[in-house]
Amino acid sequence: MEHKFVFATENEHKLQEVKEIAGGKFDILSLNEINCIDKIPEDQNTLEGNALQKARFIYDKCKINCFADDTGLEVDVLNGEPGVYSARYAGVNCDFDDNIKKLLREMGDTPYRNARFRTIVALILDEKEYFFEGKINGEIISQKRGIRGFGYDAIFIPEGLTETFAELPSYIKNSISHRAIAMEKLFYFLRHYQK
Ligand code: IMP
Repeated sequence: MEHKFVFATENEHKLQEVKEIAGGKFDILSLNEINCIDKIPEDQNTLEGNALQKARFIYDKCKINCFADDTGLEVDVLNGEPGVYSARYAGVNCDFDDNIKKLLREMGDTPYRNARFRTIVALILDEKEYFFEGKINGEIISQKRGIRGFGYDAIFIPEGLTETFAELPSYIKNSISHRAIAMEKLFYFLRHYQK
């Protein structure tokens, strides 16, 4: 089968991560490479809904096999928030730092700091839809540490480790992360796919 797919994301960090996870085995095209400059809608209230909305938008427009992901940080003591609202937690025009500040404010000094990143990947292939999930548990620390990665990486320590995602080298994050787990499932599926 053709190993060429568009990754429907406007997030340059995610694109680099997914290219590293794919390790050259699949040709992952960016939206720039297919000359798509439209703003992709993302207004559903589940990760599945958003991932599918993004993939469907590009598939319908460009008629090319396509996948998209949606990720949420689920904090136990906040009943799973910010979850699907992780990108716009502090407001629609906020940045990663505003979101982190709000999250740390909401958590205060609680000792209950368990959380997980959960990613859903939606794939549209030959008109059919498929979903893949990846999760990683960890804890939220009360001050940012590290300069790598993006989003909430600087306050998330994966279970079993002592460094945040923003302190770990990218090859470690990209071998254990929520996104890596979901993408490995996607790539396994694609390697075994027959029309
Ligand atoms: P999105 O809607 O899937 O782009 O992700 C929602 C938000 O979750 C992003 O704006 C980031 O703040 C955060 N996020 C997604 N993936 C990661 C990650 O791998 N590390 C840290 N934060 C992430």
